Amino acid sequence: MNILLIGAPGSGKGTESELLSKEYNFTQLSTGDLFRTNISNKTKLGLKAQEYMTKGIYVPDDVTNDMVKDYLQTKNSGLIFDGYPRTLDQAKALDQMLSDLNQKLDYVVHIDVKESVLLQRLSGRLVCEVCKRSFHKINRKPKVENVCDFDGGKLITREDDQEDKIKVRLKVYNEQTSPLINYYREQNKLVEVDGNVKSAIDFHKELVEALKL
Ligand code: ADP
Repeated sequence: MNILLIGAPGSGKGTESELLSKEYNFTQLSTGDLFRTNISNKTKLGLKAQEYMTKGIYVPDDVTNDMVKDYLQTKNSGLIFDGYPRTLDQAKALDQMLSDLNQKLDYVVHIDVKESVLLQRLSGRLVCEVCKRSFHKINRKPKVENVCDFDGGKLITREDDQEDKIKVRLKVYNEQTSPLINYYREQNKLVEVDGNVKSAIDFHKELVEALKL
């Protein structure tokens, strides 16, 4: 089974992917994390992606699609797509790539979160440099300041979590990614979940029920 999570930056896609992966043995395919790994390894792809990511805008579709196509050669089921596709062209490309491999997206989950909540979450977000898990300066403090509870890694603020970049990312999401909700509704794959006020654990329970896992 393959699942796609669609939600604005800060909607909780990453946290939820991690919970589903652990409990149901899915593998998370996060294009944001793949790009960041390429950036740290200073690959050609990373250098290209970096100029877009630091501005908070999307990496071009052809670059992103090619990276995902490569990934799907080794694994194409039991995946949670986190942050891909984000444009209609990417969605169409993914449908084609999966069908070429006799696979498909089974469920598309739209995590709906109000803009005020997103802003508050993103502006306080801290991410572990090593395992990428998220914490929050006020709502989910680590036990030791700036140190990851899980592996002792350093917690950092992502460059694109600065306020001006956050605004750009939310605008880009509304313009380019939210049309995907209708695209998948028309394919009868859409599951809508309210991601506003609940804790990550409550949200996870609700989603597991909605997906009948
Ligand atoms: P968030 O969902 O919080 O914005 P991500 O780690 O998923 O964080 O993405 C960070 C950045 O990586 C995006 O702002 C964009 O520049 C780039 N990116 C990730 N996924 C895609 C994609 N599918 N298409 C284009 N750009 C992407």
